[in-house]
Amino acid sequence: MRFEGKVVLVTGASRGIGKAVATGFGKEGAKVVVNYSKSKSKANEVVKEIEKYGGEAISIKCDISDENQVRDMIEKAVQRFSRLDILVNNAGIGFLSNFEEMKTEQWKRTFDVNMLGGFLCSKYAAKQMLKQKYGRIVNIASTDGINTYDPRSIDYAATKAAVINFTKSLAQALGPDILVNCVAPGWVATDMSKGMSKETMRRELSRQIIKRFSRPEEQANAVLFLASDDASYITGSVLVVDGGFR
Ligand code: NAP
Repeated sequence: MRFEGKVVLVTGASRGIGKAVATGFGKEGAKVVVNYSKSKSKANEVVKEIEKYGGEAISIKCDISDENQVRDMIEKAVQRFSRLDILVNNAGIGFLSNFEEMKTEQWKRTFDVNMLGGFLCSKYAAKQMLKQKYGRIVNIASTDGINTYDPRSIDYAATKAAVINFTKSLAQALGPDILVNCVAPGWVATDMSKGMSKETMRRELSRQIIKRFSRPEEQANAVLFLASDDASYITGSVLVVDGGFR
């Protein structure tokens, strides 16, 4: 069990990639904080699933774009489990709209959740991690921040490029005791991607070596690797998990 005795907080763990990450850590012995913003019953199902494997978990409601809520969430997590070893900044949102019609409110909301949220969680988690002289932060970016651009998600792509840059700078700021890395997924079969038209899906898959969307668990494997002792000499890195998109 790679994460015996470790305490992990996964944001946006009620569904999709975050759920796979949280249950992955739970199966490998970690105590897990399952964060959600709206999907309470789904988050509680994730807690139950981890308990089924003999693990320990709690769910905490928190909108990661709200500083007071983030501060409270980290406090509750540390109160409950006495430490915080690993933070996975996974929660994210995306809207589709043409650039000319894109509203300022949408632009701000995308940045508030995808970028500010990761900053706030990292800031309050790092306080505890620095006291412990141990911590691992794994951010979830996207290949949209590197090389796969959709003209209808300019705001989303900009946040994900920012997450990659944030990862590299934060690794400098918090090292060497706290290691900071990110995973950049390509297409993943979750709620976020399920509205895609068949035509778009065909086009996207034609550019991949592996001709299917990834399963959330395949992204979780990369997150768990970066948080594990196997990655003890890796910081400020971006691990692309995209089925070979070109
Ligand atoms: P998803 O299935 O839509 O799930 C999103 C998760 O984020 C949910 O658990 C949701 O919780 C949570 N969330 C949303 N807003 C939140 C907020 N303000 N505060 C706290 N939690 C919040 O998404 P996903 O596909 O698993 O994506 C997870 C991450 O991977 C995101 O950062 C996304 O950008 C990235 N990603 C996804 C893909 C893909 O193809 N799916 C590709 C590349 C990168 P509630 O339900 O409780 O609101």
